[in-house]
Amino acid sequence: MADYLISGGTGYVPEDGLTAQQLFANADGLTYNDFLILPGFIDFTADEVDLTSALTRKITLKTPLISSPMDTVTEADMAIAMAKFEQGFITDPVVLSPSHTVGDVLEAKIRHGFSGIPITETGTMGSKLVGIVTSRDIDFLAEKDHTTLLSEVMTPRNELVVAPAGVTLKEANEILQRSKKGKLPIVNDRDELVAIIARTDLKKNRDYPLASKDSHKQLLCGAAVGTREDDKYRLDLLTQAGADVIVLDSSQGNSVYQIAMVHYVRQKYPRLQVIGGNVVTAAQAKNLIDAGVDGLRVGMGCGSICITQEVMACGRPQGTAVYKVAEYARRFGVPVIADGGIQTVGHVVKALALGASTVMMGSLLAATTEAPGEYFFSDGVRLKKYRGMGSLDAMEKCSGSQKRYFSEGDKVKIAQGVSGSIQDKGSIQKFVPYLIAGIQHGCQDIGARSLSVLRSMMYSGELKFEKRTMSAQIEGGVHGLHSYEKRLY
Ligand code: IMP
Repeated sequence: MADYLISGGTGYVPEDGLTAQQLFANADGLTYNDFLILPGFIDFTADEVDLTSALTRKITLKTPLISSPMDTVTEADMAIAMAKFEQGFITDPVVLSPSHTVGDVLEAKIRHGFSGIPITETGTMGSKLVGIVTSRDIDFLAEKDHTTLLSEVMTPRNELVVAPAGVTLKEANEILQRSKKGKLPIVNDRDELVAIIARTDLKKNRDYPLASKDSHKQLLCGAAVGTREDDKYRLDLLTQAGADVIVLDSSQGNSVYQIAMVHYVRQKYPRLQVIGGNVVTAAQAKNLIDAGVDGLRVGMGCGSICITQEVMACGRPQGTAVYKVAEYARRFGVPVIADGGIQTVGHVVKALALGASTVMMGSLLAATTEAPGEYFFSDGVRLKKYRGMGSLDAMEKCSGSQKRYFSEGDKVKIAQGVSGSIQDKGSIQKFVPYLIAGIQHGCQDIGARSLSVLRSMMYSGELKFEKRTMSAQIEGGVHGLHSYEKRLY
């Protein structure tokens, strides 16, 4: 699009900003911090933004977020908790407090078009559930009653049917059937609201059984394998256990070993989705796409625990890597995962705006309640361990990671990662809803109602970017304060 007309305005506005193609036209590698997205036009609410996105050719997720296959990030607890965000659990519903009024409910109903609103002590998620207000509670109130406090009309906590955090969608469905209610609040063991399930969403799940779950209506689950002979045995066990997708886990995926493994999986398990990688160039991607991968994992050297670029001299700044690979792979219908280097929710939005379909996170999800490992204290700070799978620490304890980063016969082992710790982040039941809402707000500012609109705006050139100088980066951060507290959600 050359220029664009402001409707009802006085004429054309001049061209401004760079298209993605222009942004990446020269050979400078850009990280997520090196550019910004110029804002667009908003004519929808943030919670309307549809985050459905493809993980592979055949698997679609309702939220574009994946946890890294790392021993300090993903084991069963993390995998189950992450999968549930894709399963119809609403984790960022409108919530009110007992001191809100009937008028607030009616306003929320006009803005969001639904009526069952959970009531918590503070009017936010994560606070103690005290009741629910449905249309039945307020339908017969007269106009003048709009100032009535919700504490007077709500159905109180002791009359509510709730389900505990960790409930499966199937169990929740059964509870809803029995209770004949429209909404089922999900609470943790402190009776704090962590999610809600709507009967209408369950119905949608029944009507679209392939969305975000497998044909057995099980939570979707992926697993990583290497490319050695004994990984074929692990592959058999994983497929028997019901894995929906496997990731060929390698820091440099463009190899004869990975191509041979893709052929092997394709032939033995034709219906299993295979993600290849990691790659950072179109040439690397080409070989894996030709071999038949269903998705690509992009990133080399951008991970928070990673020293690959320092040690191996190979890699690529992640913004450029994502754009270049996604732009090539889309011609073959192969979705791209932006893997590593995500430090903020803004980075997630940028990765998606550069063409990634999903985003994989290690450090951002490490040290949450659901991450493996025990918390420990150091200098009074509560921490959990987070380490690179190519760190010597992980190599010594974890045979799978050794294969990814070293060949077994190597006499001298070269570490590609470090081992460290991260401060306690609490549960992903609160953190992931923050990420989801943050992505929706980012898309809203851009003027993209969905992730597919975001990508088509980028490829059409409508989405505009701008490079960020060092001083622009300083200006864009908090500055000039004597002290401050940074609370994000
Ligand atoms: P983060 O989200 O920035 O912490 O990066 C996580 C990603 O780093 C993972 O998904 C892997 O792709 C990558 N990674 C994991 N372990 C290592 C390592 O030891 N060296 C280099 N990269 C690693």
